[in-house]
Amino acid sequence: MLLHSYKITRTLPCLADPEKIRAIAEISDEIHEVFPYLNAVLKGCIYNHPALTLTIKKDGKLFTLHAHHITLAKIEDEKEAEEILKWLADLINETYEKRDQIEPNYSKGAELRALDIYKLLPGTSCKRCGELTCLAFAVKLVGQEIEVAKCPPLFSEEYQEKHNVLVELLHAAGYNISTKEDTKDG
Ligand code: SF4
Repeated sequence: MLLHSYKITRTLPCLADPEKIRAIAEISDEIHEVFPYLNAVLKGCIYNHPALTLTIKKDGKLFTLHAHHITLAKIEDEKEAEEILKWLADLINETYEKRDQIEPNYSKGAELRALDIYKLLPGTSCKRCGELTCLAFAVKLVGQEIEVAKCPPLFSEEYQEKHNVLVELLHAAGYNISTKEDTKDG
């Protein structure tokens, strides 16, 4: 068994979807050894081998496995978070036990979609980034033609949680990101 236990230590509102929550669970063991095997058996994962994170998309929800903790986004409530963590723990342990029969996959996997990014932007289309709309900004961000730092509103307190989730998602997907606000005009 690779993962023996887990415990939800924090829940936050999920501002990507205000009706949902975001849960963070500390885990008893380092689990990164199983990431390339999970990346091989699951579809649509975003694997960042250097950063040791694996993001799993399932039923419109987002689960990011780190070496020492797990974050769950777009969750209904703590009860659902517990059910997902149990599913993840079983998946991690079963995959780890069968690892000799699985060809590990170290590729980054699925690409981020502009719509995934757009949902984490302020959505006001204020044009301060130089783009006409937030969606246009999202398209450029996913293509790595612009940086998060070019969107000043994201650095305000109002959008702090969206900013945090966006940075986490980009980081998990292996993007090089500047987390400092760009104070220059445009
Ligand atoms: S600066 Fe941010 S909020 Fe304003 S249009 Fe650009 S991406 Fe949207």
